[in-house]
Amino acid sequence: MKKALSLLLCLLLLAALAPRAGAEDVTEIRDAAGLAAMAEDPAGSYALAADIDLAGVDWTPVAFSGKLDGRGHTIYNLSVTRCGAEVRTTRDGNLKPYETVFAGLFSTLENAEVRDLSLRGAYLSIESNEHCFAALLAGYIDHSAISGCAVEGRAEFVGRAVMVGLGGVAGYGCGSITDCKAEVELFFEDRLLERRCEQFMGGVLSCGVADIERCTVRIEGYDSCHGYVHNGGLVGMYYLCGMDYPYCSVSENYVGGFIRFFEANTDRRAYCMPYRGEYLTGLRRYEGNSNDFQRLETFDYRFVLRPESCEDPDVAEEITPPGCDSWGFTRHECRGCGHSWTDSYTPPEHLSGDWESVEAPSYTAAGLERRVCTRCGAVLEERELPALIATESCALDRHEAALHPGETIPLRAEVGPADAADRSVRWSSSDESVAVVDEKGVVTALDRGRAEIRAATADGFCSDVCVLNVTYTFGQWLRQLFG
Ligand SMILES: [Zn+2]
Ligand SMILES: [Zn+2]
Repeated sequence: MKKALSLLLCLLLLAALAPRAGAEDVTEIRDAAGLAAMAEDPAGSYALAADIDLAGVDWTPVAFSGKLDGRGHTIYNLSVTRCGAEVRTTRDGNLKPYETVFAGLFSTLENAEVRDLSLRGAYLSIESNEHCFAALLAGYIDHSAISGCAVEGRAEFVGRAVMVGLGGVAGYGCGSITDCKAEVELFFEDRLLERRCEQFMGGVLSCGVADIERCTVRIEGYDSCHGYVHNGGLVGMYYLCGMDYPYCSVSENYVGGFIRFFEANTDRRAYCMPYRGEYLTGLRRYEGNSNDFQRLETFDYRFVLRPESCEDPDVAEEITPPGCDSWGFTRHECRGCGHSWTDSYTPPEHLSGDWESVEAPSYTAAGLERRVCTRCGAVLEERELPALIATESCALDRHEAALHPGETIPLRAEVGPADAADRSVRWSSSDESVAVVDEKGVVTALDRGRAEIRAATADGFCSDVCVLNVTYTFGQWLRQLFG
């Protein structure tokens, strides 16, 4: 018995010490396909290795329970027009349950971590007959941590169900959202007229309970509701809503902007506050928050409140190209009401110049050339230039020749190797009164005597010589003697 027990303890110890396979494996994501593939292994660990353009992609919200480290990268031009397939139970202020669907980059984050990720130019357009929560990053969070993230974009949500929420970062649930930024335009329209909806809007979280610390929100909210409004610059309704989450902190946040809304309801509550629209759950820490937030309630229920107030908008477009460290984008602005938004982001980029030499290669050392940005001077690319290949041989087709004055003879020089940097040959004569040689190696004898015709490679490494003897013909002798 004792033996069996110690064996068991040994086995337990071994199991505890054994490295967990794949625990440190991080999958790097570089493109839209890689991002979408998270859905196939939702509990995995991922990191962005590049900024990712989702222009032209009709994104399917991903149900995620792993880790995603954005490493400071940006997912830009995200467009979401439908909810994910996941159904979770959400609860209203009376804990009444609703089967609910979710939209966002993620439909659900469950025991997940998302950090250091930016969304730029995100756009959400949801029309739902089902209970639904939508947000730019995640529709639903359950014990998930979102830190160091920034979301910038617009969301439009037309609802025809009771439980409806629209958030900047997250829609519904519990977790921590820290050191995040949200710059969002949120539009909600309630088309459920026969029943009163439970409607939620928040720059960080529309409904739920979360540690929210050091977040910065700029919200422009529009909310036309025939049920119960729960609107907050940070959180629409702060409430445990049946989830098991410890006492929290909502501290050191800043909220700017406004929520323009109406609550067309005879039982009017009209919760709309800078931090928490309505709260049913207390806080462990609630301090250091500041705001420049406007609660803009209206009482004309005939017209849906929209960011665009012209009946016939006249929209001008202006494209800002990217800079060396700034994003490019297209800005749309209505000439009538001044409503504006930006989309079609393009990442920062340098202007590449031509290759230019830094160090010319020599016969003994490699050289270097680079391209720099013509705008900011940053070095974009460098490449080594291989050292020059010297000549190794120079052989004349003849090494002796006998000529009479006035005669010519062509000499040919064979230079190797074939890939030598400079195979050209310089010709010279040791005595130009006897013979001269031109640049093509054609020798012309001038007068009696001896001359060395030299072929030297231009790089100076090899040479060869042809010895030339110039003698008079018999007739030339006679002319010399008697002329
Ligand atoms: Zn307008
Ligand atoms: Zn530059």
